[in-house]
Amino acid sequence: MLIHVCCAPDLLTTLFHVKDAEFFFYNPNIQPPLEYRKREDAVKSVASHFSLKVIFGEYSVNEVKSWYHVVRDYRDLGEGSERCKRCIGFLLKRTAQEALKRGHDSFSTTLLASPKKDLSMIEEIGKTLEKKYGVVFYFKNFRKGGAYQVGVRFSRELGIYRQNYCGCVFSLLERRRKLHAKASRENNGV
Ligand code: SF4
Repeated sequence: MLIHVCCAPDLLTTLFHVKDAEFFFYNPNIQPPLEYRKREDAVKSVASHFSLKVIFGEYSVNEVKSWYHVVRDYRDLGEGSERCKRCIGFLLKRTAQEALKRGHDSFSTTLLASPKKDLSMIEEIGKTLEKKYGVVFYFKNFRKGGAYQVGVRFSRELGIYRQNYCGCVFSLLERRRKLHAKASRENNGV
């Protein structure tokens, strides 16, 4: 199986359920590039600690442009919206293609370990790609069975970077706006 990796904390949670797989870190959605490198380095640390085989996908201007092309009409809709459906569809499509190319018979994603993601949306995307490419989409709630807590504990013990926004520039701006609004409310005593 080839598993798309969105970030190191979700990879740690996923490892609770999946032992024998190849991993694919492919995320041209992440901005700015410095943040991308931090997340990439965190995945490298986990890979080295657990001796995982990780393929690092391309992160280039062209890849970022291709990603932007699929989400741009939905950029202001917020997290969990059609924007995220398109974004995740883009990442998983590339994962399914990579799985096929490398002779895997199934694929999945560590996004299924993320507490903020809509699992049924991911399942729908995965099953659509399964039909299109003929590689099975492995669906499981990777947070279950105490996996999430184990992932958090491991990431603390290993000193793994934990990001505080989803990844794209829109989610970064949305988080900043939220923090700004909260600070204003506190300043006004609300
Ligand atoms: S919020 Fe996350 S899932 Fe949604 S578009 Fe941005 S990076 Fe993709």
